[in-house]
Amino acid sequence: MSFDSLGLPASLVEAVKNAGYETPSPIQEQAIPAVLAGKDVMAAAQTGTGKTAGFTLPLLAMLEKGERAKPNQVRALILTPTRELAAQVQASVQKYGQNMPLRSMVVYGGVKINPQMQMLRGGIDILVATPGRLLDLYQQNAVRFQQLEVLILDEADRMLDMGFIHDIKKILKALPPKRQNLLFSATFSDEIRSLAKGLVNNPVEISV
Ligand code: AMP
Repeated sequence: MSFDSLGLPASLVEAVKNAGYETPSPIQEQAIPAVLAGKDVMAAAQTGTGKTAGFTLPLLAMLEKGERAKPNQVRALILTPTRELAAQVQASVQKYGQNMPLRSMVVYGGVKINPQMQMLRGGIDILVATPGRLLDLYQQNAVRFQQLEVLILDEADRMLDMGFIHDIKKILKALPPKRQNLLFSATFSDEIRSLAKGLVNNPVEISV
């Protein structure tokens, strides 16, 4: 299997080759075509499997096509449990998408909210966020979801372990019902399965 056969645009195939990747990892082989096909995905994958590129690459490919985010709107939302992970995910969005006209941004708590509110005004195609700060921004009307196309939960099991379930449920209520959902988790406990029930529709299930 090679990156050329996954359905990614040439610019992204080039970007992964520049990153030094020779072949897609198993999660990438399975997730990339499913995401590009517009399907919901439920993937059991640990850190180190290449899961981040598994969702950021097809996400960039899809968003490149549509209309850019309008003021305060977000087209794709990636939720992560920690600032560190949020920053890492944002770094890969920027690395692979550096030649694309998409705006991405990371928001988390523990830093001033005002600069984040200001940056959101221009509209953001890909927003990477921790749940608490995102909810603050939403409650202050700094972020709106009418244009939201894709929701990604990364390390969902850790988000539940850290007590983010109520924040996540509030966020889900604010999102348009018609959207693509991707759920990544190291494990699929009963708790994650119950979250998934209200979240993903007819998902492609991937386990690596
Ligand atoms: P992740 O599981 O997403 O945290 O990725 C783990 C590491 O694997 C990161 O440092 C990536 O840069 C790297 N990586 C991702 N995909 C590939 C690939 N197809 N070939 C080699 N390395 C990769």
